[in-house]
Amino acid sequence: MTPRTPTQGSTREEPLLEVENLRTSFPTDRGDVTAVDGISFGVDTGEIFGIVGESGSGKSVTALSILGLAADGEVEADAIRFRGEELSTREMSAVRGGEISMIFQDPMSSLNPVMTVGEQIAEVVRHHGEVGESTGILSELRRKYVTGTSDSSRSWQRAVELLDTVGIPDPEQRANEYPHQLSGGMKQRVMIAQALAGDPSLIIADEPTTALDVTIEAQILNELFELRDEFGVSIVLITHDLAVVRETCDRVAVMYAGELMETARTETLFDEPTHPYTKGLLRSIPRVDDDREWLNAIDGTVPDPFNRPSGCPFRDRCDAAFELCSEPLDRYDATGTDHEVRCHLQHDAVDIDDGEPVVEGSLHSRLDGTETEPLDERSGVVEPGGERQ
Ligand code: SF4
Repeated sequence: MTPRTPTQGSTREEPLLEVENLRTSFPTDRGDVTAVDGISFGVDTGEIFGIVGESGSGKSVTALSILGLAADGEVEADAIRFRGEELSTREMSAVRGGEISMIFQDPMSSLNPVMTVGEQIAEVVRHHGEVGESTGILSELRRKYVTGTSDSSRSWQRAVELLDTVGIPDPEQRANEYPHQLSGGMKQRVMIAQALAGDPSLIIADEPTTALDVTIEAQILNELFELRDEFGVSIVLITHDLAVVRETCDRVAVMYAGELMETARTETLFDEPTHPYTKGLLRSIPRVDDDREWLNAIDGTVPDPFNRPSGCPFRDRCDAAFELCSEPLDRYDATGTDHEVRCHLQHDAVDIDDGEPVVEGSLHSRLDGTETEPLDERSGVVEPGGERQ
């Protein structure tokens, strides 16, 4: 792979990837379901950017939408830019697997069971990697008869090298094996080797360690670190595991019901979580020194996509919800941001007095510029899904 200058997310120059107002919906018998609802973010060169949230929050659909792989999905975005160039769907297909590659969640269903793992990696090398740049029958014949090598043998060699790079023991032999002959950890490494075969600048890793035990998980995460540190590869890490986020990411975006709720540098998110949903997620992490009988869970579930609450989508589960939470929330752009929170409690017009939110003046006039009747001076805290106290 070609080394690039790692910036560890510190640059505020043009991001490598910029996603502007991404929206993805899926048609169903009951109507369209919105899985991703107007999110904007950017990833810097050499940055590890985490996207966290519980199942159904839209993390994986975000990744698939960026890569044009959201089957049956209606994907719209104001722009998806890579290295500052806006990519059409067709251009995205060209860079997919090469400059931008993806490590999928489940290697067993992502690898082809009837091809050796070496051949599956070599195929990507031929298509996107340095060998693939010089394909063509004349080039192939010249290499074969003049230099004694062929694209096939060179790409196979490269596949073996990549298996070695990701720490597979005895890579020459393993390259000749089929996925079912490898352990879960090895299959995940094969997926990483395959992602590296196109010499990517950006890897989107969707729950890359979910099915692995903690020892293998640590090894895989180290591989990702090395990719960033040695080659300056940027990584979008999609996970529900906050421990993994804390260990690996430079910045984190918290997603809920297809929307961004809080984005911050990792240490800020863990030291000063601000959004009630982020606080709930952090409270739910079990600790070894904790003598609680029951773990803290966030009551309720992600809202029914056909029956979303108005205003804040977390309203029915939020123990800080108050009268104004049924009002729409402004969206933010998480490109290069150090800390953004999407919650009415953070609005300039809202103060906390004795633990309760207090609205000053007309919030409507401040939120959207439309003058309306002033709201109550003081709004009581509402129990999740309940009436004002
Ligand atoms: S306080 Fe309101 S806006 Fe903030 S997270 Fe709770 S429900 Fe949403």
